[in-house]
Amino acid sequence: MIPETEWQEEISSSIRNIDELAQRVQLSIADLDTNKLLSNINPEDQHTKFPLRVTESYLRRVEVGNSKDPLLLQILPTATENLHQTGYSLDPVGDCSAQKQDGVIQKYHGRALLITTPACAIHCRYCFRRHYPYSENRISDTNLAEAIEWIKEEKSLNEIILSGGDPMMLSNQRLFRVIDSIAEIPHIKTVRIHTRMPVVLPSRIDDMLIDRLSQLNINKVVVIHANHPNEINSEVESALLRIKQSGTILLNQSVLLKGVNDSASTLKQLSLRLFDAGVIPYYLHTLDRVVGSHHFEVRDEIAVKIIKTLSSQLPGYLVPKLVREIEGESEKCAVEFSLTR
Ligand code: SF4
Repeated sequence: MIPETEWQEEISSSIRNIDELAQRVQLSIADLDTNKLLSNINPEDQHTKFPLRVTESYLRRVEVGNSKDPLLLQILPTATENLHQTGYSLDPVGDCSAQKQDGVIQKYHGRALLITTPACAIHCRYCFRRHYPYSENRISDTNLAEAIEWIKEEKSLNEIILSGGDPMMLSNQRLFRVIDSIAEIPHIKTVRIHTRMPVVLPSRIDDMLIDRLSQLNINKVVVIHANHPNEINSEVESALLRIKQSGTILLNQSVLLKGVNDSASTLKQLSLRLFDAGVIPYYLHTLDRVVGSHHFEVRDEIAVKIIKTLSSQLPGYLVPKLVREIEGESEKCAVEFSLTR
């Protein structure tokens, strides 16, 4: 991608090298318990090896000198990732078996999901798609028309979710080529975008994106992804308020992560900050057991306890639903009712 805009230039100057990261956060490589091999991979291999990747904007929110900083832990490749753990798999939520067409996944009634791009602005170490075979299963310029034809035929659908990777890594032109094609289908009433960009690269929320969102004659939902209150600074707040002003409903989904946000006080602050920025906390996901992520797992008993404490301190609309995705289920499962691990 040749950078054309400020945010694309910021993407090009992302940090992808562990030595640079260590220097920026003023820690030694030993302090970071990092896996150097995983961290300094040739960018050409980035979609297969899931190397270190973080934006300047996000890194500025990491506390210098703190090897346990909750934002740092989310993006730091550690040596622990290489340890084998029983029960962890490459595709923990069954994305591949739910594929309907190239880049089209359907798990639940009434909605389907498009894998729009493999690219993300940051690489979250717990990502359930970190091993996803994007090269075979995603929407491209050539197969978009086939995906749209499939949606047209599936009259039971009323909502299309754009996912990835991160759909907002696409240029506005490419993003709205997809959205506009969807919006023209009469039975599709809602387009939903799952994105971490307003949080990790708020400059992505540019004038053209807001103009195009404002003009859409279809329900619009943007589901962001923030896990810790320190992710929401004033730039992020401004970006979120702009999206809201475009007539878009804003929700957040988080993942419950050991060492990052596994306390009621942290999640309470997150809910309050999100609400100040016009965002409703929607889901708190338990960890999807993807290979390389076991060090983030929080036990169900602790998760339920956290949610109970949150419920006693916040109004119901600020308490996210604690859920787990299970392959083959027709909906996300509430964890309180399925204490199985
Ligand atoms: S931004 Fe989302 S899709 Fe990308 S690595 Fe993070 S969790 Fe995964």
